[in-house]
Amino acid sequence: MSDFRSHLAQICDLNHAAAVLEWDQETYMPSAAAEARAHQIATLRRLAHELLVSEKTATHLEKGSDESSSDDDALYRVTQRDFDRAIRIPADLVEELAETAALARQAWRTARESDTFSTFAPHLEKIVELNLRKAEAVGYDEHPYDALLDEFEPGMKTAEVANVFAELRDQLVPIVQALTAEVKPDDRMLHRHFPHDAQWDFGVGVITDFGYDFNRGRQDLSTHPFTTTFSISDVRLTTRVDEAFFNPAFFGTLHEAGHGMYEQGVDGALERTPLADGTSLGMHESQSRLWENLVGRSRGFWSHYYPKVQNAFPDALGDVSEENFYRAINRVENSLIRVEADEVTYNLHVMVRFELETEMIEGKIGIADLPEAWNDRIEAFLGIRPSNDAEGVLQDIHWSLGAIGYFPTYALGNLMSTQLFDQANSDIPDLSSQISSGSFEALLEWLRTHVHRHGRKKSANEILTDATGTGLSVESWIHYIRRKYEDLYGL
Ligand code: ZN
Repeated sequence: MSDFRSHLAQICDLNHAAAVLEWDQETYMPSAAAEARAHQIATLRRLAHELLVSEKTATHLEKGSDESSSDDDALYRVTQRDFDRAIRIPADLVEELAETAALARQAWRTARESDTFSTFAPHLEKIVELNLRKAEAVGYDEHPYDALLDEFEPGMKTAEVANVFAELRDQLVPIVQALTAEVKPDDRMLHRHFPHDAQWDFGVGVITDFGYDFNRGRQDLSTHPFTTTFSISDVRLTTRVDEAFFNPAFFGTLHEAGHGMYEQGVDGALERTPLADGTSLGMHESQSRLWENLVGRSRGFWSHYYPKVQNAFPDALGDVSEENFYRAINRVENSLIRVEADEVTYNLHVMVRFELETEMIEGKIGIADLPEAWNDRIEAFLGIRPSNDAEGVLQDIHWSLGAIGYFPTYALGNLMSTQLFDQANSDIPDLSSQISSGSFEALLEWLRTHVHRHGRKKSANEILTDATGTGLSVESWIHYIRRKYEDLYGL
């Protein structure tokens, strides 16, 4: 291994060791360990950061590679990018952001519980200000939000997101209006009693069929489901189980497995390099959404799995027809909480957040006016209005963590998911009948080939363009929604 590669490998090791501690913190750690654990994680992350911004990295990057392979080119390019971002943001700003976020997270919890935005407002004000300083430090050509977005969706520009979202909104709002005017499917059966262990086993069975590899991963319980990677051969999922509702555990498990299979599918040659990771949050979300929605909420999927789910939950689903179950899991309605939104209205929730974030960064909206602006925007997009801030501006954790620029990746991922899935369907002509018979090897293989194995070697845009022939667009997703819901609602 070259000196440069072994230097980068040490950085990866430190970050992955920190990730193990973070995973443990969310799953098994006793609560009294919180303070000691915070120190341990901070130490490992700091050492990794110091190695990244070290003289050694700078010297290697300046000298460049002696071999010219595509892996090596990508390795230098991606390391340069990480190095530039890390070195441009001053250490005291990083520290101030971390400290502000720690306090903001507590204030956000209190504010949400007591429905008092004013408790959180000064913290959010500071977070916006620090993010602006971060954007100035990182640098940008057109819009300070570009510098923030770039952390999560490398290469994507604010103006492009704004254009894509404007087009999406124009096409989606009439569809949502038409769908929500219809009589909603009855979904009460999803709220019957679903025993914990049966939910766990059913979910594990399905993601094993998908191809999530339990020899190179595991699943545990946590309050907020997530996927984390310690190496290509150790990618872990978490889920949560609600015995009074079928959806969170099942669809959450499929979602996280989609993230997990992406990370498990990265080319082994990229192990212990910064290339062994998802290329962007949008691309990551395209993988989770593809398995959760395009596969897991499809008619074909349930034609195979419905007898099995009835078997697993005879008391809850024994008297429910496959058609009624399918309609219930695809119920569309205007709702206030993003994480509970259906696949049709979900993107509208994201667009509201994107607009408000860019306006906060531009200084067009003052923090004190944010709750009102939020409610107005939700009403304009969804036709309903939050009655308090807990179901409005205070519902998401992201801002309290200091993250601005993250939200758009959720909707970008939805758009990418159908673009990729359309292409997979055209490359594998009998894919839909394979899915209807519970066979997913060809689909996973296609995703491995076109998306997973590249890790960060290709940008999200390169992956999309190379796989499908076009960059990001809204047509494919809109077409999918029209086709599926015209069939469901007979519009
Ligand atoms: Zn996700």
